[in-house]
Amino acid sequence: MLNVPPQAFPAPGSQQRAAAGGRIKVPLKPGRSLMDWIRLTKSGKDLTGLKGRLIEVSEDELAKHNKKEDCWICIRGLVYNVTPYMEYHPGGEDELMKAAGTDGTDLFDQVHRWVNYESMLKECLVGRMAFKPIAAPKGMLSEREVLGASARDTTPSYDWFQTDDLITVVIYTKQKGMNAELVIVDCQHKRLRGEIILDDHSYLVEVDLDHEVQDDFAVNIAEKVGKVEIILKKKDHIQWKVLGLPLESHNTLLRRTERGLFYRKCKLVSKTEVTHDTKLFCFMLPKSTHLQVPIGQHVYLKQIIAGTEVVKPYTPLLPFLPLDFKEPFSQDGAHIYLMIKIYSCGLFTQALDHLQIGDDISVSSPEGNFKKSQVEALEDLFLLAAGTGFTPMVKLLNFALAKVDCLRTVKLIFFNKKDDDILWRNQLEQLALKDERFEVQFILSEPAEDWMGKRGKISSALLSECMKRSKKDSKVLICICGPTPFTQQGLQCLEDLGYSQEEMHAFTA
Ligand code: FAD
Ligand code: NAD
Repeated sequence: MLNVPPQAFPAPGSQQRAAAGGRIKVPLKPGRSLMDWIRLTKSGKDLTGLKGRLIEVSEDELAKHNKKEDCWICIRGLVYNVTPYMEYHPGGEDELMKAAGTDGTDLFDQVHRWVNYESMLKECLVGRMAFKPIAAPKGMLSEREVLGASARDTTPSYDWFQTDDLITVVIYTKQKGMNAELVIVDCQHKRLRGEIILDDHSYLVEVDLDHEVQDDFAVNIAEKVGKVEIILKKKDHIQWKVLGLPLESHNTLLRRTERGLFYRKCKLVSKTEVTHDTKLFCFMLPKSTHLQVPIGQHVYLKQIIAGTEVVKPYTPLLPFLPLDFKEPFSQDGAHIYLMIKIYSCGLFTQALDHLQIGDDISVSSPEGNFKKSQVEALEDLFLLAAGTGFTPMVKLLNFALAKVDCLRTVKLIFFNKKDDDILWRNQLEQLALKDERFEVQFILSEPAEDWMGKRGKISSALLSECMKRSKKDSKVLICICGPTPFTQQGLQCLEDLGYSQEEMHAFTA
């Protein structure tokens, strides 16, 4: 049973008010939270005004419903009456009105790709468009359209062969420097899905296999030539005539933002306390998944809450802060660790906290725009983290200290409310003792009287005092992550202090 007081939700500073990626969400009226919306959709009220009928909608008809008090929007060929949803939209009415009476698919994909609107708006479904108002679905774009004709030679291809026991699917990515983080494979219930990340595009092999295979498989990568082999074990040792039936997105090369998020079920294997309100969750990937989350990338977790799919992003980190930096700490590839703050009024985190060991949760493939090349040849790295904004800093810190030879200083400036909110304080202090390149500074916004350290919130004065280059004109990167207002103010302060855009990176969704 969910116990969410409607009046307290969402509170100022909530994720429902501050959007990812720097968009500001508008304050919602009391009683207009996501939970309130879910309640309304379950109330049996006629939200479309059509008494449950589904109709075919012409373009002219769609265009007529373009007012706040009568607003229809088409998303991927389905038309929704979003009038009752207006006041519940975290982005505000004006944002929703941009698509009023039109096809909002593109707008939706830009801003809400990870939100399951089919589930959120199912009670608002008016019907289908009578004829297709949108251009060909993005999945149908040819690779020439996506990349331009000159890219033809670099388009991946695939082949397969078999022995008595094995099926080997070979993907020729034609990209040097291929590595395990760029290959995501899932193979369950005869469905093989092999995705290769090629910068901001992805190539997909997606087949309903001809016969059953065992759960575990191997992935071999020839880095230099960019060849990826997925080696499946046959269940029955018979000869296959074909690899299988191609699925909808099979053999396509698309922009990553144009692919739907793919989820697999992961098991909760442990949950340990980090602070009074933050826990370290360890999830186990299925044997039938090959996935590694790169530095600075997040995954989306999906849960059904009160019958509605709810999705939130979280940033995987390491199980602890390694103190030895001869090599970056390498994970086993079977587990994903997430450090998550449980908010007393949080819709998603309350449900997460109620998960029992052994329970399943859906975890998406990773996303994010941080590139390891941003750290190459770096001399000074400054990490500005607030609260759980610390999470993307962990793998980054580990990688930089182990791999970047010319690195002289890494400084974490860690903003928290109170001293008992500080995550992994002991580990950070130990690391600072062990590695002279690393320094940590804690800054509290609501300290107790006896706090001896710095106080306050992010400001230009504070940053200029705390951030000193190791030498004039050193190659520097400043990474920032925390509540949206913190990140926005931080970026502004850095600009005011004369840092260039290339010298800053903000972690956002
Ligand atoms: P909501 O329903 O959104 O909010 C409900 C209540 O929670 C509010 O009323 C308020 O009391 C409280 N609350 C929510 N946010 C704040 C806040 N910033 N300050 C004060 N109170 C707040 N979170 C993690 O814990 N670990 C991560 O690794 C992590 N990674 C993220 C990565 C990305 C790219 C992004 C955009 C966010 C990340 N978050 C992370 C935040 C996470 O996605 C959720 O927003 C968060 O868990 C709150 O979800 P909720 O549904 O429980 O709370
Ligand atoms: P919190 O509320 O405990 O605040 C921590 C510190 O952030 C405060 O002490 C203060 O110094 C600063 N801060 C908070 N609100 C501010 C404001 N309005 N202006 C300036 N500074 C402010 O933080 P929390 O509850 O741990 O929240 C962490 C945030 O980090 C969440 O919003 C979460 O979404 C975000 N996050 C983002 C990513 C990502 O984008 N990759 C990853 C992890 C967490």
